[in-house]
Amino acid sequence: MKQVPLHWQILVGMVLGVIYGLVSATLGWSHFTSDWVVPFGDIFLNLLKVIAIPLIVGSIITGVASLSDIRKLSRIGGKTLAIYIGTTAFAITIGLVMVNVLQPGEGVPHELQQQLQATYQAEAASGTDRAEMAKSRGPLQIFVDMIPTNILGAAGDNRNMLQVVVFSLFFGIALVMVPQQKAQPLIDVFASLTAVVIQIVQMIMLMAPIGVFGLIAKTINQVAKDDIGAAVELLGALGFYCLVVIGGLVLHAAITYPLLLKVFTSVSVLKFFQAISPAQLLAFSTSSSGATLPVTMEVCQKRVGVSKEVSSFVLPLGATINMDGTALYQAVAAVFIAQTLGMGLDIGAQLQILLTAVFASIGAAAVPGAGLIILVIILEAIGVPTAGIALILGVDRILDMCRTAVNVTGDATVATVIAAMENELTPLDNEGEDI
Ligand code: ASP
Repeated sequence: MKQVPLHWQILVGMVLGVIYGLVSATLGWSHFTSDWVVPFGDIFLNLLKVIAIPLIVGSIITGVASLSDIRKLSRIGGKTLAIYIGTTAFAITIGLVMVNVLQPGEGVPHELQQQLQATYQAEAASGTDRAEMAKSRGPLQIFVDMIPTNILGAAGDNRNMLQVVVFSLFFGIALVMVPQQKAQPLIDVFASLTAVVIQIVQMIMLMAPIGVFGLIAKTINQVAKDDIGAAVELLGALGFYCLVVIGGLVLHAAITYPLLLKVFTSVSVLKFFQAISPAQLLAFSTSSSGATLPVTMEVCQKRVGVSKEVSSFVLPLGATINMDGTALYQAVAAVFIAQTLGMGLDIGAQLQILLTAVFASIGAAAVPGAGLIILVIILEAIGVPTAGIALILGVDRILDMCRTAVNVTGDATVATVIAAMENELTPLDNEGEDI
C-alpha cells in the first residue's frame, strides 16, 4: 500500500489541531487539553530538539571534512554568507515599503493602545530585560558570542546553536589539515553518527501528524485560553498589522525565492515548494528553525537533490543566522510600534532599521519568540520606547509561525542555489519520494 506523503500527514494533523483547539477553547476544555493533548506535541518537539545538536555536529564535521579543500570551503562559505545577507536585506526592504505605504499603526485607537500596554506590560518587561543585557555590550559582541568557552556548555542549550556550528566548522577544518590516517577514524565516527541521527529523524517523523496536532492545539490553547471571544477581539484589533506582516512574508516567498531559483538553478519552482513543504509545515507548527533543521536537511537532500556536502554546511548555518522572515517582521513591527505611538521615522531611522534588523535577525536564536526579544535592539537604535513591545505581544505567536516558515524556506532556497552554482545539485523527481 502506498504511504500517504508526509506533507499531507502533517497538514491533516494541523487542520485537526486547529479544529480541536477551537472546540476546546469554545467549550472551556483548556485543562483537559493541557493534560491530555499538549504532551503529544511536547514529546514530538522535544524529540526534534534533542537530535538537532548531534545532527549539526555530525553533518558539519563530515561535510567540511569531505570537502578536502579549504579553498572550496571558503568559496562556498563566502557565497553562502553573501546570499544570506542579501536576501535578508531584501526582505527587510519589502517589510519597510509595506509598513510605510499601508501604515497599519495609524488606525489603532488610543484606548486599545493603553489596554494592550496594561495587559502585556509585565511580559514585555521580562523580555526587555533579557534584550537589555544583549544590547548593553559593544557592536562586536555578536562575534564574541559566536565563540563558545565550553563546548559542552554550548551544546547544552539550543539557544547556543550558532556556537556549536562555529565549533564544528573549526573541528572539520582541522580534520582536513591533519594527516589522513589520523583523521580517518574520527571522520568515520562522525559519518556514522550522522547516519544514525538521520535514521532517528525518520522514526520521529512517524509521529508527525499526532505531534503537529498537539502543537497546534497547544498554541490555540495558549492564545485563546478559555475565552475565544477575547482572542478574536485581539486579532481583530491587530488584524491589519498581522496582515501587513503576513502580506510581506508572502511577497518575499513568492518573489525573491522563485527569482533566485529561476536565475541560478534549473529546478521547477513549483516542484521545489512541493518538495520542501514538510519542512515549511513543520516550521509553521513548531515556530523553531532549529527544531525543523533535521527535516529541512532531509527534504533538501532527498527531495530537492542538494548534495550532502552543500546541505550539511549551508543549512545548519542558515537555521542559525539566516532569518528573512524574522527580519521582515522586525522591520514591520518596529515601524508599527512607532506609528501607534505617534512617532514619525525619517529616512535615517528607516536605514537604521535596515542595518540593525540584519544583525538582529542573525543574532536571534532559532527558537520560538526569539525575534520578538531581539526587536528591543532595533527599537533602542531608533529611539522608540521598548515598552511598545506590549502592543504586539498578544499576536506574536501567530506571526512567529509564519515567519519561521519563511526562514526555513530561505535556507532551503539558498542551499539549492549554492548547490547549483557548485554543480552539486541533482534535480530529482520528488513525486512519491518521501523521507
Ligand atoms: N522562531 C523563529 C525561528 O526559529 C525566530 C523568531 O523569529 O522568533 O526561526
